[in-house]
Amino acid sequence: MLPPPTLKISEIFFSAAGEGLRQGQPTIFVRFSGCNLRCSFCDTKYAWKGGKELLPEEILDRIAPLKNRYKTNWVCLTGGEPLLQDVGALVRLLRRVSFRVHIETNGTRPVPVKPDWLTVSPKPPVYKITSDCLRLASEVKLVVTRSLKPGEIGRIREKFSENIPLLLQPQSHAAWSYKKAWKLYIQAIQEGLPNIRLSGQLHKIYGIK
Ligand code: SF4
Repeated sequence: MLPPPTLKISEIFFSAAGEGLRQGQPTIFVRFSGCNLRCSFCDTKYAWKGGKELLPEEILDRIAPLKNRYKTNWVCLTGGEPLLQDVGALVRLLRRVSFRVHIETNGTRPVPVKPDWLTVSPKPPVYKITSDCLRLASEVKLVVTRSLKPGEIGRIREKFSENIPLLLQPQSHAAWSYKKAWKLYIQAIQEGLPNIRLSGQLHKIYGIK
């Protein structure tokens, strides 16, 4: 049997989950290198390139001391775009040893294995969302960019089941984006769009990673 492929990893670190409905939960982050998009507002451009090739077992070896130190069993696979790489073996390994796995994706890729939590964050200008992401999403996170139009929120909202929250997240902690997010939020709820949430980036408020 072939060994599982190595994965290109930018960094592994502990923090509090900064975004989405898991905000504030102690979490070990595994940041994957590489992304198929090039968003101008990307907060993690450093992860587009480079990274270290690691086997799933080697990733687990780096996660284990963080778990012991911070007593958390949540691992978030983020990026870059983690689903550009074959994450299946890593997710299965993590779950075998009782971790709960959160995946953050831009929504453009198939999801090879169902995680415990899936954040789908579709990106402009196309806002592509694969059928796996539509089916498995736990939450939808929409960055409030300068180009985001109210009609786009409605179009994305109706693609997902109503019980999946759609969070409006200001872009990169910028004052103009908070103002715009609030305006779009009010407009969306007044129009009756279901399950719209106002959101933010906790790690930027606290100045942590
Ligand atoms: S999809 Fe995410 S990681 Fe990729 S470029 Fe856009 S913001 Fe950055």
